[in-house]
Amino acid sequence: MLRIALPNKGRLADDTRELFRDAGVDVRARDERALTATLGDLFEAIFVRAQDIPEFVADGAAGAGITGADLIAESDRALCTLADLEFGKCRLVVAATDSSEIESVDAIPDGARVATSFPRLARRYFSGAARNVEIVPVSGAAEIAPHIGIADVIVDLVSTGSTLRVNGLHEVATICESSARMIVAPDGAAPNGADRRALEELVGALQSVLRARGQRYLMANVPRTRLPAVKRVLPGLNGPTVVDIMNSGEHVAVHAVVPAAQVYRTVAELKALDAEGILVTRIERLMP
Ligand code: AMP
Repeated sequence: MLRIALPNKGRLADDTRELFRDAGVDVRARDERALTATLGDLFEAIFVRAQDIPEFVADGAAGAGITGADLIAESDRALCTLADLEFGKCRLVVAATDSSEIESVDAIPDGARVATSFPRLARRYFSGAARNVEIVPVSGAAEIAPHIGIADVIVDLVSTGSTLRVNGLHEVATICESSARMIVAPDGAAPNGADRRALEELVGALQSVLRARGQRYLMANVPRTRLPAVKRVLPGLNGPTVVDIMNSGEHVAVHAVVPAAQVYRTVAELKALDAEGILVTRIERLMP
């Protein structure tokens, strides 16, 4: 069985489990606290700290792994990304206290102390920006560092920005964007043969779920005479499917895949074309 390293806690862990479940890949563990589980029929999952996953995959302890792009970059290990899984979106930012009047990286004085759990990325960023700073490595809660006098600015992850706000900090610059990625070791050390095929099928299944999440399946009955206009409203993946309705000479059923964000407008446009019996459903998987 190919071993896949998965995050053991936090939002990356929850979203990973949800994605596997939606893809129909069972995560079966003997106990909630178990550190291993079977993943479908072909894989074994090990649950480890998200920041350790790049090392485990690079060293071959796991054939593949799922973790954040921020942690992959911070590890500085040579790794290949098989897929962007789109969850765990966040940004690594430089932030300063609201009382500091620092509004740009150029305003950070020489010798400033930077608290962060991303020392490599922070060091690289500040040296690229020609700022001479002192990195203060912390393992978490960097937001507190400027308030207790151990740092002047911080480099930390931001999702909604509310943690920075409630701790009296504001963003000064974005270092990089991040989301969850499926990774393998570089060519040569990566799984090959049957393992590689199984992994690619798994990635395909996960991606089909991600693709489906942003789309809806829309069905409506429309007057046959309105079809040319309906086709303009409902482009679908390859144009709408048009189906005869038994004993209804005047109406036909149209089916199409519509971006979730456009459903509201599309329904209104179909109604204006005398559509009836409009039905919108979620899609489990989408393989174009
Ligand atoms: P927020 O208040 O939504 O900006 O979240 C910020 C807090 O959540 C910080 O403590 C971050 O370290 C953490 N955080 C946000 N997004 C992520 C992520 N994708 N992965 C890990 N930690 C995150």
